[in-house]
Amino acid sequence: MVTTSTLDNARATGYTPGNSAIPDTVPSSVTMAETPAAVPPKPAIAILRGVSKVYSNGTIALANVSLGIRQGDFLFITGPSGSGKSTLLKLIYGAEQANEGDVIVHGQDLTQVRGDSLSRLRRQIGVVFQDYKLIPRRTVQENVAFVLWAQGMSRKEIHRRLLPALKMVGLQHKADCFPDELSGGEQQRVSIARAIVGTPPLLLADEPTGNLDPDNSWQVIQILKRLNKLGVTVIVTTHDENLIRKANHSVVQLNNGKLRRPLHS
Ligand code: ADP
Repeated sequence: MVTTSTLDNARATGYTPGNSAIPDTVPSSVTMAETPAAVPPKPAIAILRGVSKVYSNGTIALANVSLGIRQGDFLFITGPSGSGKSTLLKLIYGAEQANEGDVIVHGQDLTQVRGDSLSRLRRQIGVVFQDYKLIPRRTVQENVAFVLWAQGMSRKEIHRRLLPALKMVGLQHKADCFPDELSGGEQQRVSIARAIVGTPPLLLADEPTGNLDPDNSWQVIQILKRLNKLGVTVIVTTHDENLIRKANHSVVQLNNGKLRRPLHS
């Protein structure tokens, strides 16, 4: 749905997210994040059905998890350290494979997708990490542009995308700085710009505020909320209960790899 604030955000930044490739229907067995009764349900962007993940050392990270995320959702995944939050995101962006169950993202079954198809699918998913993962000897704009350059995009196209992404995170004036010239909060905002410069319809953030103070944490969440208003589906892992309460979005909780029914804020 395009709202006034969607348009205002887009006008202010020039940032326009992409659309999900292939919508999928949601099986009734899968728990969905909450949609108000009067609003017709949107297509699913990610579905996990009966998913289990056991690492090679025998650790059971996820056990029979079923979860659906619709286009336009903003979902928090919470739970104590070691409960499986990162693993769940890794399965969605294809960094790990499930041992059992289905993981369907943008309409594609991740247990079946390999090679170029997996690379194409990953371009539709932005990922933000707790530790930023910026390249130290590259400037802000080089860090943000790198992924587009690696995809073979033209200089003109990269240039066209760079400024809206930096504006979205409020760092256009820091384009020529190096990461060690920025605060932790600014570095995390650069990593968000890098994650969204390819205009993915789905953004995953794994403990994005884990290294930040409450003010910077809230700034990061506000940027994610703005992106969500523009239509980006956002999934955030965190164990920060205050942040979850303040942000006021749907929440699911993991405990020892098991998903509890959603707690709606
Ligand atoms: P969280 O993000 O909630 O802290 P993780 O998904 O990182 O949880 O981890 C879930 C469980 O899987 C933990 O017990 C962790 O030690 C284990 N784990 C995570 N990654 C690996 C790995 N690559 N190899 C073996 N065990 C792992």
